[in-house]
Amino acid sequence: MNEYDSDCLGQQLMNYGLAATDNHENADLIIINTCTVRAKAQQKAFSLIGRMMSIKKRKPDVILGVMGCIAQQEGSDLLKKFPDIDLVLGTREIGSTPQLLDRITKGKEKIVATDLSIKPIPRERHDGYFRNSIKSYISIMEGCNNFCSYCIVPYVRGREVSRSSKEIMEEAKSLVSQGIKEITLLGQNVNSYSFTEREDVDFPMLLRMLSGLDGLNRIRFTTSHPKDLSDDLISCFKELSVLCPHIHLPFQSGSDRILRMMNRGYSREQYIELIAKLRDIRPDFAITSDVMVGFPGESDKDFQMTIDLIKKIEFDNLFSFKYSDRKGTFSENMDKKVDEHEKSSRLSILQSIQKEITLKRNIKHIGKEEEVLVEGESKKGGQLTGRNETNKIVNFYSDIKLTGSLVRVYIKHAFINSLQGTLIKGH
Ligand code: SAM
Ligand code: SF4
Repeated sequence: MNEYDSDCLGQQLMNYGLAATDNHENADLIIINTCTVRAKAQQKAFSLIGRMMSIKKRKPDVILGVMGCIAQQEGSDLLKKFPDIDLVLGTREIGSTPQLLDRITKGKEKIVATDLSIKPIPRERHDGYFRNSIKSYISIMEGCNNFCSYCIVPYVRGREVSRSSKEIMEEAKSLVSQGIKEITLLGQNVNSYSFTEREDVDFPMLLRMLSGLDGLNRIRFTTSHPKDLSDDLISCFKELSVLCPHIHLPFQSGSDRILRMMNRGYSREQYIELIAKLRDIRPDFAITSDVMVGFPGESDKDFQMTIDLIKKIEFDNLFSFKYSDRKGTFSENMDKKVDEHEKSSRLSILQSIQKEITLKRNIKHIGKEEEVLVEGESKKGGQLTGRNETNKIVNFYSDIKLTGSLVRVYIKHAFINSLQGTLIKGH
């Protein structure tokens, strides 16, 4: 979501007449996009803001801004902590950046724009911004109504607001015309998308509309909530060939007691049933997820339930986190906080078990012919890299001219983070 927001800002700034620089020392305008979902992300952002302040001290004409969830959460307090900041840009106000910059340059004033009660201000696009890209994001809804007890998102991204299908289709068409082959639809709770103002479009309907777009090879979406994963949405995976057989479906905990305390709205059994329905469509359907250790009151037995679920489901990959208190959330005031040392130990047990499972799942691809969307040269160089339908990185030797095309690759080797294969010619 932050990458998408940064790209929206980048497009508006280009329309405003600015050009990007690779070196922040040369910049006239620096805007730092921030995340506050976990304590660690916030610490990183604060330290980056501190470093950028030193540039401003040397070059007072530089305009320094902070956007994203920390900007939204801290508002004018951020100016007290970091007095050299010129602009605090809330999550719903990104669309008004050009007007705010005008005010800052003309009036030499500092601005805090953090109104969360407004609908997100529409953002201008810059045609050609994505010309050298293969894949891109579209945010289809903002905010969240779920109030999971640990989560800051509803407080910094506001209540759910879905964009109209017309706006989304226009953005998708513009991306495809620039050469984009794969679009990932974004939302804090993407599958509760529902636009009811002038039309009645839900998430499966939107997927069906997008799947008819000429030139678009692949659609993905993230992040889905288990309680909103309807049978109609599951059937889209059978019906729509452009919809990739992969879902990121956070489960957070394998213990029903903890799930209730988290206010997640589903049980362990219900989660297992959803995965069974997805794997019924294709046994190699890829499932990735988010999980947390050390939620207040999490006992060793609860943690073992989480490990048991991980072994049962065999996720393709997991993003795993140590719980951290977030200001103003319900769980901040829960008692029986888990000791930091215990959280670290649980996280490392969990991660080492998942590593083995990830490798096991990747090994299952060996000997298969898979469709790969080529993204360019691999990180280490020498090979081409791309992703298969299940979102796994596939490296293989071939000509860089294949970048942007869909090819078939015979998978020969599997590692924790990637697969390796040979190009099947003539497809
Ligand atoms: N909307 C998604 C969902 O419902 O699963 C998750 C979005 S959240 C921004 C991304 C992930 O951060 C969550 O799935 C959760 O695992 C993790 N997370 C959120 N709050 C956290 C906290 N207070 N401490 C640690 N991890 C947290
Ligand atoms: Fe946060 Fe996701 Fe829960 Fe919304 S559904 S409160 S974004 S964890």
